[in-house]
Amino acid sequence: MKYNYFHREQQKSYWEKHPFVQNRLHYNAARNEYTCPIGQPMRHIGDQRSTTKAGYVQTVSRYQASNCATCPMNGVCHKAKGNRIIEVNHRLNELKAQAREKLTSEEGLMHRSARPVEVESAFGNLKQNKGFTRFMLRGLDKVALETGLLATAINLKKLVRILQKRAEERLKSALGSVLSFTRARPQIIPIW
Ligand code: SF4
Repeated sequence: MKYNYFHREQQKSYWEKHPFVQNRLHYNAARNEYTCPIGQPMRHIGDQRSTTKAGYVQTVSRYQASNCATCPMNGVCHKAKGNRIIEVNHRLNELKAQAREKLTSEEGLMHRSARPVEVESAFGNLKQNKGFTRFMLRGLDKVALETGLLATAINLKKLVRILQKRAEERLKSALGSVLSFTRARPQIIPIW
């Protein structure tokens, strides 16, 4: 699944405009520290745990540079007062890296190109045209069942449309044959 910023990350212009963002800084996992744009270490200064609305517990690690006041890059690298601090969710970065690898693989590219045609039009139709914005059932199994029913309804509608089109084409071609037969029929010339 695509995460926020996936599309931006794929653009060269994004990195050109933001050369000093946290994602561009080198991380040394063994020392648990980052290297800032002029090559100075950004030391780990602590972790912060919080719980999201959905109940997921996440940990954000903080790293701080130490000589920003005298650095010629001050003001370009970051705009905050004092030494630059970055906040990193390592678990999130790990999951993003996994997603990025899948999304940019050959198989991922194939699924991504099929998605707008096969999936998004069906979701758009369901939400926008049919007003389906909430599931009526709760729980993964029941939601899967409800999704299956919706997909069946959409597929039946598509099937009816295809059969209708085929029937129309057959009718048109039968009418065409009758008309051409009538036109080609030899005229009866009276002999008296
Ligand atoms: S401003 Fe601070 S963080 Fe940025 S390059 Fe200079 S020392 Fe490093």
